[in-house]
Amino acid sequence: MPELPEVETVRRGLEPAMEGKRFIKVEVRRGDLRWPLPKDFAQRLKGTTVTGLGRRAKYLLADLSSGEVLIMHLGMSGSFHVFQETGKAVGSYYHERSKHAAHDHVVFHMSSGATVTFNDPRRFGSMKLVARDKFDAEPLLNGLGPEPLGNAFDAAMLARACKGKKTSLKAALLDQRVVAGLGNIYVCEALHRARLSPKRLASSIADRKGEPKERAKQLVDSIKTVLNAAIKDGGSSLRDHRLTDGDLGMFQHNFLVYDREGEPCRTPGCRGTVKRIVQNGRSTFYCPSCQK
Ligand SMILES: [Zn+2]
Repeated sequence: MPELPEVETVRRGLEPAMEGKRFIKVEVRRGDLRWPLPKDFAQRLKGTTVTGLGRRAKYLLADLSSGEVLIMHLGMSGSFHVFQETGKAVGSYYHERSKHAAHDHVVFHMSSGATVTFNDPRRFGSMKLVARDKFDAEPLLNGLGPEPLGNAFDAAMLARACKGKKTSLKAALLDQRVVAGLGNIYVCEALHRARLSPKRLASSIADRKGEPKERAKQLVDSIKTVLNAAIKDGGSSLRDHRLTDGDLGMFQHNFLVYDREGEPCRTPGCRGTVKRIVQNGRSTFYCPSCQK
């Protein structure tokens, strides 16, 4: 399942094909994604210009000249392919992409000359149109906590959100109301980098008054560092792809703990072994020797 860095990489990949460009034609080959596509979807997009392509948590947001916002989510297996008029693929964004045209559900023909195809074998992805002036009340987005890479997300904010929380620190970080867009992989990696056990109580990063302890600062720094590094990885594979015209998408992620059960810890000086436990039904990978 794509996490925030993958979605940000997709956004950057779509930007040149879509931002400032008009929808010439929209083909809907299959409208029953996670939810049915909005009524008159193709007609509402046709002729409008994408004035900005943004992201909130794992949602892509295309601001339209029609006054609506197109909200897109990749779900479990969604990907976008961008083709230029020459018929040459210029990019495929997201690694679980399927090459089967049978899963090409929505096709945007843009005034840039690019064709942007949404492919999704499992159809957990979604597209929704909402009016810009009703956007703040949009239920998909209005309960979300701050963006982890935004300035609003800092140690003081995280400590306040975790104050008195009797859940594990890992569960708190996966709670989208605490911080938006973090998933299992990057929570495991950030906790490892901060040397904090995923099992410790969420409340232990704050003092009684809800002020951040030093470990809250370490944790916030670690979250920002792992996300930025992953986006940079995605970004560099994007550039490599443009040069070689090969098949983009396979991120060369170098995880420190994620999916490394039984392997040696990579923390310098640590002789621990990466362990897998299950928390709230999901695998957690961590090093019991250096994460306390
Ligand atoms: Zn270790």
